[in-house]
Amino acid sequence: MKTFHCSCGNKLFFENSFCLKCHRETGWCPVCQGIHAMELDGKGGYVCTNPTCRSSVVKCCNYVTHNVCNRMIETPQGQPHNFQQLCGYCQLTETIPDLSVEGNPQKWYHLEVAKRRLLYLLDQLGLPYGSKSSNFELPLSFDFKEDVEASSVLGWMGLEKGEKVFTGHADGKITINLQEADPVEREKLRVAFGETHRTLIGHFRHEIGHYYWQLLVQDKDEEAYKAIFGDHENPSYSDAMDQYYKNGPKANWAHSYISAYATMHSWEDFAETWGTYLDMMAVLDTADNQELLQLPNHDLVDTQLEEMLTRYADLSLRVNEVNRSLGLPDLLPETFSDPVVEKLTYIHRLIQRNRKKPDPA
Ligand SMILES: [Zn+2]
Ligand SMILES: [Zn+2]
Ligand SMILES: [Zn+2]
Ligand SMILES: [Zn+2]
Repeated sequence: MKTFHCSCGNKLFFENSFCLKCHRETGWCPVCQGIHAMELDGKGGYVCTNPTCRSSVVKCCNYVTHNVCNRMIETPQGQPHNFQQLCGYCQLTETIPDLSVEGNPQKWYHLEVAKRRLLYLLDQLGLPYGSKSSNFELPLSFDFKEDVEASSVLGWMGLEKGEKVFTGHADGKITINLQEADPVEREKLRVAFGETHRTLIGHFRHEIGHYYWQLLVQDKDEEAYKAIFGDHENPSYSDAMDQYYKNGPKANWAHSYISAYATMHSWEDFAETWGTYLDMMAVLDTADNQELLQLPNHDLVDTQLEEMLTRYADLSLRVNEVNRSLGLPDLLPETFSDPVVEKLTYIHRLIQRNRKKPDPA
């Protein structure tokens, strides 16, 4: 992730909606692709203050109404502002939490923040995705939902039977249980599952792996995939899941898998490895922008995977030592065995083959 600069000289970060130095509102400008201060234009809209841009924009409706977004939308020249629009990222969220429940607006905010980081990275890597309205072949959408408790009061009327929400992916729809946006609940689950990290962004990066399996591998590259990740049809997903919850992860899983959960089924192995790949890309991009390391090529997808692994391993040693100085768990605990490197290589090549060509403009 880059850091951005306000026209007043202050540093701005990806999540900022306000410049603390010049006290102007800030937002993501879709035209010059960065976070900039926005000036009111006297017609309810804004002008991007980037001197080379000066585009006419309005705030995303979720920015104005709920403050869960910080993206602007361009108003084409000569046209009146449309204040009812959602930005391209917000349009992908189909179900939002019940905002009358205490704490839910904050949870929604944190989910959208993580989702924006996910989509930003996908855009940066040139990975294809699209919405229903754009007729994309596998429309991507998000549902943020919470468990519905079976109500003893209304139960006899059959109005509320109770619904358990499972975080997961199905045919382009990514569902996240709202509980994951509660840091206490999430930490309990992290300990229960013996995970090193459990984060919202981690959930998004894992689930989008299932999405890309369906978009890029299914019926297109299944034979090559099977050679690396094993047969996804045998055992079936439901048999594999039963086995996993009955017997636990495969012994010695660390020799060939990135996590214990990855041993459950070939699809989970792919999604776990994919999520780790995106984590690594995000960390390398940030470290490169912060000058903690230097990548030979700013385009991550064009960089050799081996080069990135070497730099990532070196960075891990250093940042882990920083964490240990504060008694915190390692920031980048993973080490990659040879079979895991093979899986990461498959994913890197899959992305190289399927990325959208950068816009010549
Ligand atoms: Zn400023
Ligand atoms: Zn701009
Ligand atoms: Zn938005
Ligand atoms: Zn999964």
